[in-house]
Amino acid sequence: MISPGVSRNPESHDFPSFSRLAGIALLLIVLFAVASLLNARSWSAGGVTIFWPSNGLLLGVLLCSSRRQWPVWLILAALIDFSANILLGDRALMAGWLTSCNMLEVLLAALPLYPIIAPRPDLTQRRQLISLLLYGMFLAPAVASLLASPAVEHSFYFSGLMLHRFQIWFTADALGITIVTPLYLAFTQSRPFQSRRWNEIISLFALLLLVTILVFWQVRFPLFFLVLPFLLLLGLRLGLAGSALGLLLVAVVGGLFTTMNRGPAALISGGTLSGRILLLQCFLAVSMLVLYIPEVVIAERKRLQQNLQASEARFRLLAEASRDVIVLTDLEGHRDYVSPSVTEVLGWMPEDVIGGSYHQLVHPDDVASLSRLLKDCEEGKPARALPYRCRNSQGEYHWVETNPRLYRDPATGSPAGFVNIVRDISDRRAAEEELNKAFRMVESLATVDGLTGLANRRRFDETLEREWSRAQREQSTLSLLMIDVDHFKRYNDAYGHLAGDDCLRRIAQSIALFAGRSADLAARYGGEEFAIILPGTAASGSLEVAQRILADVEQCRIPHSNNAAWDVVTISIGSATFSPIDGDSCSQLVRIADEALYRAKHAGRNRVEAEDSLSVRRLTGDSGGESVDS
Ligand code: GH3
Ligand code: MG
Ligand code: MG
Repeated sequence: MISPGVSRNPESHDFPSFSRLAGIALLLIVLFAVASLLNARSWSAGGVTIFWPSNGLLLGVLLCSSRRQWPVWLILAALIDFSANILLGDRALMAGWLTSCNMLEVLLAALPLYPIIAPRPDLTQRRQLISLLLYGMFLAPAVASLLASPAVEHSFYFSGLMLHRFQIWFTADALGITIVTPLYLAFTQSRPFQSRRWNEIISLFALLLLVTILVFWQVRFPLFFLVLPFLLLLGLRLGLAGSALGLLLVAVVGGLFTTMNRGPAALISGGTLSGRILLLQCFLAVSMLVLYIPEVVIAERKRLQQNLQASEARFRLLAEASRDVIVLTDLEGHRDYVSPSVTEVLGWMPEDVIGGSYHQLVHPDDVASLSRLLKDCEEGKPARALPYRCRNSQGEYHWVETNPRLYRDPATGSPAGFVNIVRDISDRRAAEEELNKAFRMVESLATVDGLTGLANRRRFDETLEREWSRAQREQSTLSLLMIDVDHFKRYNDAYGHLAGDDCLRRIAQSIALFAGRSADLAARYGGEEFAIILPGTAASGSLEVAQRILADVEQCRIPHSNNAAWDVVTISIGSATFSPIDGDSCSQLVRIADEALYRAKHAGRNRVEAEDSLSVRRLTGDSGGESVDS
């Protein structure tokens, strides 16, 4: 029906292609001929114009062309319109005036509609359809009718009262524009009939034609309404193009029979042909609204659905393409969604872990910190990342890190759950582990303990060997103090590791203070244990040093509520004194000092137990009171 080569977007050339020009010209002539035949029948039978389609076509063409081509289209349409008027019997002046009114009408509609429709013609968009109805159905035909009606008194086909003449022009043009313009726009789209098969399209139109003929042929019943369901069916199956073409068919067939005084309109008793045609026109206008409005509603819903699907697909893609595992949980930590990367990171399939909670997969030692993190997050505390161990499908624990965010129910605004971005940090952890190992190695090569500033274990071992040999050589005495903090594990548990470290530093200060001779060496033996090598020191001197350190630590009064009798941090000391002879080993000295320390612990802590190679001395360390048992 429409010439090939009609483009959907406004053509940008100054001059339309010849084929398009010829196609549109042919179409205009055909429409003129059909409308003239139809309307001429009506005029000669004393009726009025039923509908005027050519202005609707011209409006569609203008909306699909660049503005620079408008003069060409207007001149072409004006020539055809003028010739048709002359052929219909009007004098040149009258024919020219009527043609000018027609062109003005199209221009009046095209100018405001162009910016709304031309960029993307789609009358299923509410704004485009309302604008077409406003400008194309009311404003432009109303202005053109006002201009045309006074002059056409003597025209071949306009006669009667001024108001009557206005109505004749207005309704016919309004119907022509609202039926033919959507039809033209729909046919410039790539799929005017929503890609339905041809046999379906032809069957639907044949059905409508049959029903229309039946309804408009018979003269017994007012069966207008019978046409509507078939028009609606056409609209539902074939879209706006189907509705508009169906309406055109009903207008032509219905118009033809109505002028033959047949169909439901003929049932008006004593009415004129003009009155009957007006009834037909009203029926067409109402049908048009009944068809176009659901069309817009359905298209809007479809667009909304497509947008929703597109946005869902976009978010799914984001979640599924991410290397991190995205986990949605409720406030109790039960998983509602787990992205597929969980398989790559932990070996689980998403469905294995959906529904479960973190208590089942997280390492028991990390559950408490994760619960605390989620609680903090729910209370709106600043977000922070937490490394923890999570069990993989092989049953091994794998280091991951999560950074949860609270999300809220969009309807109520109340907290609904957490979005967790879970990241695989096993490589990072392995690198950290390597780094720590390297650090420990470097530390062991050094001679100073990083935490306390005392000598480290390595230097202690070397010094003990050296002093032992010297004592052997020089037949002198060597004392060793082994010092251990009492209930230090409980201290850490109660006050935290950082406070524990501070405490160790403070004890180290006391130790360094009282092992002040140049030959003395105070060292951190390991963990919360210290050792002091006292060369050339007899048991009594060693005991005195031990006792001073013991007293000093207690007097620091570092609170330790879990150190039963004292409520402050205390230490226990084992002292050993040796005069080594050949064959002895320095490890004996360490063992004996250790045994003394063990006894101090068993005797109730916060005390010194001493032992030398010749005699055993005992000193109770109860706050300041000193007594030495021989
Ligand atoms: P006891 O009185 O029998 O010695 O009890 P304790 O709790 O002190 O003994 P245990 O050997 O069970 O615990 C020693 C604790 O010392 C365990 C460990 O957490 C802590 N510790 C070891 N080295 C350090 C350290 O460098 N810093 C801190 N803060 N704590 C440490
Ligand atoms: Mg210990
Ligand atoms: Mg201890």
